[in-house]
Amino acid sequence: MSAQVIDGKQIADTIREEIRAEVLRLQDKGIQPGLVVILVGEDPGSQVYVRNKAKTCEDLGYHSVVVRLPAETSEADLLAIVGRYNEDSAIHGILVQFPLPQHIREKAVIDAISVDKDVDGFHPVSVGNLVIGDDALLPCTPSGVIELLRRVDISPAGKHAVVIGRSNLVGKPLAMLLLREHATVTICHSRTPNLSEMACQADILVAAVGVPRMVKRDWVKPGAVVIDVGVNRLPDGKLCGDVDFDDVLPVAGWVTPVPRGVGPMTIMMLMANTLKSCKRAHGLDV
Ligand code: NAP
Repeated sequence: MSAQVIDGKQIADTIREEIRAEVLRLQDKGIQPGLVVILVGEDPGSQVYVRNKAKTCEDLGYHSVVVRLPAETSEADLLAIVGRYNEDSAIHGILVQFPLPQHIREKAVIDAISVDKDVDGFHPVSVGNLVIGDDALLPCTPSGVIELLRRVDISPAGKHAVVIGRSNLVGKPLAMLLLREHATVTICHSRTPNLSEMACQADILVAAVGVPRMVKRDWVKPGAVVIDVGVNRLPDGKLCGDVDFDDVLPVAGWVTPVPRGVGPMTIMMLMANTLKSCKRAHGLDV
């Protein structure tokens, strides 16, 4: 039997319409969510991401600001700009697009963003709140994965989740979120021996590695849920994930494709975080 394919694009489109409806309700109260995206330098990948974020903001009726700074911008100048938006009451989310030029410390920038406007969920206080289970703005890709599972009615509770990858961006926060959803979680990484044997024990297997098509059919327990976070560009220009989709399809119970899987959820979670931050700023229930 073939796995059911989780259509992340369709689910993200549904969330987009839910957010749109909420933005209209806020508009009636004279409230508009605002997001600033700050781009330093001209990394081509980042330019595309920033354009997409601005387009989504505009489509949803957000107040959207894009700040484009030259690659030579000093760390002090960037921190001053972040500080300005921390104080700007029309802005509810601040996103500084990574990677940054080498002379700017990413950590200094993350630390400078107000926790209330930390829509990427990377600030140490946001991360701490996530770990202890307090309310927090959650990092977008991990929370997108949890939302995908929720929307297709897969509960992680009592399941064994194996997360391959331990980055601060994806693997670690996702493992914490799965734990919060009552999964039993194993985190694997480049030093994990017998990776395929570990993967085989998963009811929910997440690949967040950055190695094209690493997860093969014999890594997957029959019927398992396979979530592919990876986005890899092949020499022919096509995108593929960390999971060999065609190979695992006959074995898995559920699988996310690349593209149209986790990717479209990430940007919607960013929009949802900005909306949440806006509602909080106006004392509304979130
Ligand atoms: P990262 O920072 O490079 O982390 C990769 C992780 O995978 C590390 O923990 C690394 O282990 C582990 N790893 C690397 N090679 C491995 C191997 N051969 N066996 C086992 N583990 C291995 O990457 P990331 O930022 O987490 O991103 C992971 C993937 O997700 C990338 O393809 C990225 O493009 C994609 N991504 C997608 C989205 C989206 O919106 N869909 C968002 C973010 C990232 P060590 O810690 O031991 O080095």
